[in-house]
Amino acid sequence: MIPLVDLRAAHVEVAEEVSTGFKRVIENTAFVGGEEVAAFEREFATFSGVQHCVGVANGTDALELALRATGVRAGDEVVLPANTFVATAEAVARIGARVVLVDIDPVTYLVDVDAALAAVGPATRAVVPVHLYGQLAPVERLRAGLAGRGVAIVEDAAQCQGATRTGAGAGTGGVAATSFYPGKNLGAYGDAGAVLTDDAGLATVVRTLGSHGGLAKYVHELIGVNSRLDALQAVVLRAKLTRLAAWNDARRAAAARYDELLASLDVTRPVVLAGNEHVWHLYVVRIPGGAGRRDEVLRRLNEAGVGAGIHYPCPVHLTPAFADLPYGPGSFPHAERAATEILSLPLFPQITADQQATVARALAAALRSVA
Ligand SMILES: *Cc1c(COP(=O)(O)O)cnc(C)c1O
Repeated sequence: MIPLVDLRAAHVEVAEEVSTGFKRVIENTAFVGGEEVAAFEREFATFSGVQHCVGVANGTDALELALRATGVRAGDEVVLPANTFVATAEAVARIGARVVLVDIDPVTYLVDVDAALAAVGPATRAVVPVHLYGQLAPVERLRAGLAGRGVAIVEDAAQCQGATRTGAGAGTGGVAATSFYPGKNLGAYGDAGAVLTDDAGLATVVRTLGSHGGLAKYVHELIGVNSRLDALQAVVLRAKLTRLAAWNDARRAAAARYDELLASLDVTRPVVLAGNEHVWHLYVVRIPGGAGRRDEVLRRLNEAGVGAGIHYPCPVHLTPAFADLPYGPGSFPHAERAATEILSLPLFPQITADQQATVARALAAALRSVA
């Protein structure tokens, strides 16, 4: 069995540091916030090339708090791509703001920047580019198109820890929300997330909102939430962070190996945008022939012990929870078509060349049998 993500293989590398750190936290009893969390925030800000990192409880909260801190309020519109994890839309809906969807670029599956700019209207307060699968969307084009229009950019950086675009990472010169869900490139042992920004004032608002609306005990300036990073997760994240650059290198090497192994197969391999340093959260291929064929290929792969998956099988506007949005089938043809053809292959830093060869053979066999 080759899993989509092997969390155990990563744990083996950090096991000792994690148990020592857990012991330290349990003995000093600083469970929420404290020095361990502060140290991780400093270290991850440095790694990410931004001034400030504010740890929160999960990536969805990070998005919600970042949106609120940039001024998004109930009734405002927020533009985001139809192809993303549901949490991007959920964070907007939780504020009471309106989700405005746009289609994706059919080659990279990232937000179609022209469509996003065209969707901006008088009620738009923010646009959320999603750096899907491990590479950054062309934020500079979005920034140029939005300059002087009073619309914030809040980057969904849940899948791109360590990725850069023309040398800069998510959050540089703006604000980004990331997730440390266990399966992410930098994963905790439970839920965790963070907001990254170069804006000190914005970082303070996020920290205030996430701490019951106040930074001093029993002084509550805003109606906030309880969304903080806990020290045990910070221990794990600090240990893993020291390996993240090497792990991302290993992911890049594995992606290059897939590129070679799959070159002769009838699948569309992932495309890296010029200027991007990709961190391969997911290696997503496209199986031509529509949903039935892709689903059958996936079934055969799973049967052969290959833990392939789909990210994501249903665009936001066709998700039952968002049925009230004014979009029916056919609204976003590229996102809808991609959802029926994309397939994520197993990829994690410790995947071996043998495992990848097995995946490629299983994929070749599955494609032959459903021709
Ligand atoms: C994981 C993820 C989130 C949400 O993060 P959680 O920590 O699970 O709340 C948001 N957006 C994207 C694109 C994600 O992959």
